[in-house]
Amino acid sequence: MNGNRGLLIGRMQPVHKGHISVILDTLKEVDELIIGIGSAEKSHTNSNPFTGGERILMLTKALREYNIDTSRYYIIPLEDIACNSLWVGHVKMLTPPFSKVYSGNSLVQQLFEEVNIPVTQPVLFNRTEYSGTEVRKRILNNENWEDLVPQSVVKVIKDIKGVERIQKLNKKEISELV
Ligand code: ATP
Ligand code: MG
Repeated sequence: MNGNRGLLIGRMQPVHKGHISVILDTLKEVDELIIGIGSAEKSHTNSNPFTGGERILMLTKALREYNIDTSRYYIIPLEDIACNSLWVGHVKMLTPPFSKVYSGNSLVQQLFEEVNIPVTQPVLFNRTEYSGTEVRKRILNNENWEDLVPQSVVKVIKDIKGVERIQKLNKKEISELV
């Protein structure tokens, strides 16, 4: 019943072209892909500037931009929990049944492997540029970040005034130090 359905998790702060490339690659291997948006409850910090809902919007628009069949994926927000030992059960409670996981995170790998769910480490594509940390850094410094994310994600970030948010959050943290 778990079928050929896979799970991929990312915080997607914001969605970038690396996420799209791993989603496209993984969809060649599975019939259906569950895309979990990690730390869904977090927002308005330097490393997690966007809300879970804003990231759902980015991903939905980006997958539409890339013409990915909507019947092939599920977007599920996943809030963090305090107990690592309970985390796999928490994820399973919130997601459709799946038989394999795609993750480069070693703790995620360990927790799923302990319950005999196989984990594949996806190949990273152009990682020096296609990383959430790099996109946030460029937004902060008014450098060219637009090429690193799908056009539809540029639009969402601009619509929600995401550039201003990231720059303002950073100023706030600096001012707290002095
Ligand atoms: P951050 O720098 O904020 O941690 P990130 O780029 O590492 O962001 P995450 O939102 O943490 O992205 O999502 C991590 C998952 O996204 C990885 O496990 C991997 O599957 C996928 N991923 C991220 N970047 C790439 C990339 N350049 N190529 C392929 N997959 C990627
Ligand atoms: Mg990461």
